[in-house]
Amino acid sequence: MDIFSVTGGAYIVASLLFILSLAGLSRHESAKSGLTYGMVGMTVALAMTVLLVLDHALDTDNYLSIVLMLGAIGIGAVIGLWRARIVEMTGMPELIAALHSFVGLAAVLIGWNGHLEGPHHGGSLANIHEAEVAIGIFIGAVTFTGSIVANLKLSARIKSAPLMLPGKNFINLGSLVLFAILTVLYVGTDSRDSASADVLLVVLTALALALGWHLVASIGGGDMPVVVSMLNSYSGWAAAASGFLLGNDLLIVTGALVGSSGAYLSYIMCQAMNRSFISVIAGGFGIEAPAGADTDYGEHREVQAAEAADVLANASSVVITPGYGMAVAQAQYPVAELTAKLRARGVDVRFGIHPVAGRLPGHMNVLLAEAKVPYDIVLEMDEINDDLPDTDVVLVIGANDTVNPAAAEDPSSPIAGMPVLEVWNAREVIVFKRSMATGYAGVQNPLFFRENSRMLFGDAKDKVDEIIHNLPE
Ligand code: NDP
Repeated sequence: MDIFSVTGGAYIVASLLFILSLAGLSRHESAKSGLTYGMVGMTVALAMTVLLVLDHALDTDNYLSIVLMLGAIGIGAVIGLWRARIVEMTGMPELIAALHSFVGLAAVLIGWNGHLEGPHHGGSLANIHEAEVAIGIFIGAVTFTGSIVANLKLSARIKSAPLMLPGKNFINLGSLVLFAILTVLYVGTDSRDSASADVLLVVLTALALALGWHLVASIGGGDMPVVVSMLNSYSGWAAAASGFLLGNDLLIVTGALVGSSGAYLSYIMCQAMNRSFISVIAGGFGIEAPAGADTDYGEHREVQAAEAADVLANASSVVITPGYGMAVAQAQYPVAELTAKLRARGVDVRFGIHPVAGRLPGHMNVLLAEAKVPYDIVLEMDEINDDLPDTDVVLVIGANDTVNPAAAEDPSSPIAGMPVLEVWNAREVIVFKRSMATGYAGVQNPLFFRENSRMLFGDAKDKVDEIIHNLPE
């Protein structure tokens, strides 16, 4: 049996494992096994690819390529393990954005390599090769710079507010038209001999790098969740494009799986947030700059932990709506303890999870599962919103944009139209946060100034601990 038939079989096994992985990741209960399938699939894929390269290198006595490959794998593995060990849960989104940028960069480099090596066939097949080079570089470069901007926005190193260049829609549309023209010209040029092919490809690469930057910079903080899953999708298509260039079937299949599942996730998120899919993938097409008026909502009221403990002890129904601040404070463990204590007293405690709470899809579900909160009391926004008017107390733990009534009531708000947890309908709301600062979308929250809301200032973990400590026997 030759190495190619073994590799072909292993690639099919790896593809099936990736499909099982995606299926597993679609439900809490099977998410862990989904991850295991993914890891085994990736190990099989990597091992087989290494074997293939080794076989070829040994056949051609090219020992330098073995050293380079093993060196690159070693350095990558050390950096990957180190980052994965030290990353905080709150730092995951920017790490993921950084990883997407690597896929984009790899696709650009593979595309350029394909250009420099030239086509292996003549005639129309050569044209297909050149089209693959141009498309691969374009998707890769857009993914690369787009993901860098997403990384900078998610890590708060640049502002999350949308960049509103005049005529931004024409810039995006014009760039796409220019890309199409450059691709046609490039395919029509003899890439092996002509310096003009190099120039065309340099211009195409620069254009795609600028477009990726502009597309993501133009999207506001509230829409960043869709951008992250969209970049995930782009990184998949970039990998698939590289697969075509390298003639690697597994890369094509894996890229298509990532690309299509990422696109579907972006679509679901757009629906959940009442956003136009086309508008978001077109860099905020049709979205105008927010009016920016600073509304005066009046005075807020405060509550202390001891009083909050009394309120909770006397409640019969409590809903907890966690947000990014719970992740920052690592408050999920005391929140789980408080939940258990209240339930032991006969209080009906449930959780309301907004689809984009935190900084990752499913972020809150992961934290609550980690702290062993039973799944059956963790409800989606749509499942809990109707019950909120009959709820005695809502605890808003480090959430802000996802409980902002302006989304429902103020058409000029940057988050207008986004469905939110309607916590203000409950009898009493206690908001845990450290200050009156805005949430990720950068808009003030009128909830904090409502008659039935009180602010409990401080680190969410410390405050929940204090409440547990003050709960009457
Ligand atoms: P927000 O980011 O709107 O608000 C979080 C709040 O937590 C802040 O107002 C902050 O206030 C408070 N906070 C931070 N640290 C602490 C702490 N240690 N203790 C107590 N409070 C704390 O959170 P939401 O979850 O409501 O909304 C998520 C936002 O992120 C949305 O705009 C969403 O679009 C966006 N996003 C979501 C992604 C996803 O996939 N889920 C991805 C990218 C963006 P203070 O500083 O005063 O304490």
